[in-house]
Amino acid sequence: MTIKGMIHSLESCGTVDGPGVRFVVFMQGCPLRCKFCHNPDTWKLKDGKEFTVDEVMNEVKKYKSYMKFSGGGITVSGGDPLMQPKFVAELLKRCKEEKIHTAIDTSGYVNLDIAKDVLEYADLVLLDIKSHNNIVYKDLTGVSNEPTLKFANYLSSINKPMWVRYVLVPHITDNMEDINSLGKFLSNLNNIEKLEVLPFHKMGEFKWDELGYDYELKNTRPPSEDSVKKVIDVFRGYGLRV
Ligand code: SF4
Repeated sequence: MTIKGMIHSLESCGTVDGPGVRFVVFMQGCPLRCKFCHNPDTWKLKDGKEFTVDEVMNEVKKYKSYMKFSGGGITVSGGDPLMQPKFVAELLKRCKEEKIHTAIDTSGYVNLDIAKDVLEYADLVLLDIKSHNNIVYKDLTGVSNEPTLKFANYLSSINKPMWVRYVLVPHITDNMEDINSLGKFLSNLNNIEKLEVLPFHKMGEFKWDELGYDYELKNTRPPSEDSVKKVIDVFRGYGLRV
């Protein structure tokens, strides 16, 4: 049976979602509702466009030489790729057959048994951890951080290379106690290649307006360079490569 996936969009030359130049597949569907989300148009599965794996692979293959030359590959992002695990596992498997480096960008809010098939074909996981404080996490995303932390521990146990991403939102995720507690948690994992601190921005705000959603962070400003530097220093203090 041909597996089909609901896709938001395809981007041929991504440079911020993993190493090198990347073909990025933005899957439709996400179980979180992050207040700072810049892709709220990816939330509902039904709003995507249906693609077969062959259709996506035909596009991917056109950029194979760029990817190879730059040390890049494919990144499946979203939304969340783990919402459509069968499609994504097949897509990554096909990429591995073409010797293309594979990455997924996820919040890790998933049942581990479901994720295992995808992980088998993923060379790298970009894991977004919104907060180590579960109260903050729930307020920010609408769900618990427990599955994400369990996912991170599992990735460490199988030595799956991982880049952690942390969005710094003033007055929400800039609490030093929470940042220290995340640093400590991450320092006990053995698979982290890199940690990225991403300053909050409002580039997706217009989409919230277009969709008629209430954008609660209207009055929140991006963090200062100084506060980003302070957070980076805290993480570095835990021996993390930032
Ligand atoms: S996990 Fe990503 S796509 Fe989903 S709501 Fe949060 S920021 Fe948006």
